Amino acid sequence: MADETVGVVGAGIVGLATAREIALRRPGTQVVVFEKEQEVSRHQTGHNSGVVHAGIYYTPGSLKADLCVRGVSLLREYCRDRQLPYDEIGKLVVAVREDELGRMENLYQRARNNHVPELRRISRAEIKELEPHVGGIAALHSPRTAITDYPAIARAFAQDVVDAGGEVRLGFPVTSITTVPGGVEVACGADRVRVDRLILCAGLQSDTVARLAQDGPEPRIIPFRGEYMLLRPDRAHLVRGLVYPVPDPRYPFLGVHFTPRVDGSVEVGPNAVLALAKEGYRRSRVSPRDLLALAAYPGAWRMAAQHWRTGIKEYRGSFSRAAFMKDAELYVPGVGVRDVVRGGAGVRAQALDRDGTLVDDFRVHRVGRITAVRNAPSPAATASMAIAEHITSAVFDDA
Ligand SMILES: Cc1cc2nc3c(=O)[nH]c(=O)nc-3n(C[C@H](O)[C@H](O)[C@H](O)COP(=O)(O)OP(=O)(O)OC[C@H]3O[C@@H](n4cnc5c(N)ncnc54)[C@H](O)[C@@H]3O)c2cc1C
Repeated sequence: MADETVGVVGAGIVGLATAREIALRRPGTQVVVFEKEQEVSRHQTGHNSGVVHAGIYYTPGSLKADLCVRGVSLLREYCRDRQLPYDEIGKLVVAVREDELGRMENLYQRARNNHVPELRRISRAEIKELEPHVGGIAALHSPRTAITDYPAIARAFAQDVVDAGGEVRLGFPVTSITTVPGGVEVACGADRVRVDRLILCAGLQSDTVARLAQDGPEPRIIPFRGEYMLLRPDRAHLVRGLVYPVPDPRYPFLGVHFTPRVDGSVEVGPNAVLALAKEGYRRSRVSPRDLLALAAYPGAWRMAAQHWRTGIKEYRGSFSRAAFMKDAELYVPGVGVRDVVRGGAGVRAQALDRDGTLVDDFRVHRVGRITAVRNAPSPAATASMAIAEHITSAVFDDA
């Protein structure tokens, strides 16, 4: 007999890391993961850039900053133990205009506060030594930034859960969550499972699933599609490591960048366009239900009023390859439409408060027997093992 049963909704990397952490930290606890798809990591975890972020961007003292830095060391060790891909190819954050130098300096100070290892400011000549095809007037170099294979890590976490006596129930879309005396009942149609505690890690659906659990309606999730181009194989030599712009601090996304993947391909992107469906991987996918929910939310209109200019620019890049590559060309002069083919896309779950603020930090809260992850955007894949520690401590009050 298990001492206690804990349910986790969502078999993305956050849900699986959490299920694994509980199964290992609390032997005797039976863990069950409920996943609506037929395989793990079908959504954000399976459509991301595969970067292990070093912690450069995040507000010092925030959960993002602390859990990212801790997450990197846990993930590096895990990948080493399991012989999963983990390649420290390094990253440049490149300034191409004089007016970006101040922002780059702020980023450097922020990264130092976050204890990002071995970060250096480098000159135009040093950029050329590291990346002969990259242009720029100065850069930050983070040699320890890595790439990995998040779906492979998620599968390994799922296996750890099963090996520890837990269960990953695929094809189980949770349709109702009811608090019952001494526990919580999770149902998929007529199939009902009673657990002692429940953790919600539903990514793009985290607001919908939280509502099933009678948690507050806010923040809502706004889906931002990120579309990629792929460098043609004979042009993949144009970058050796990761090449990023200096980000706009008003915006939670990092800007179109060059991302080598563990399979040897190189992606350019992702952009950030408002998707017309939460799981809208293609432009043509429209969900009237998601769209109505968005239109009825005052926060969405307030966000649109603040960010419409950026929104139009991103849409232009979505429809026109030439417009998309214009940004990329600032970093690799001469790279253009003929060097790329269209790649895949991912959809980011970005939480939005009622006042139109894009929620920056991770947001996790617990009410009684239910703990809900309400915002886990990038770098949540990097930070997943540390987020799992954080959630486990919150669930069992043993921080
Ligand atoms: C384009 C893009 C690029 C990114 N790049 C990076 C990067 O380079 N590095 C990084 O660290 N992070 C990156 N991220 C962010 C990272 O991928 C996410 O933060 C992370 O994957 C979130 O994991 P998750 O488990 O919360 O969500 P998900 O992976 O989306 O998983 C949620 C799961 O919940 C399931 N679910 C939903 N509703 C139900 C229900 N009712 N019943 C049962 N199951 C349900 C879904 O099917 C899904 O499997 C990127 C994200 C995107 C989209």
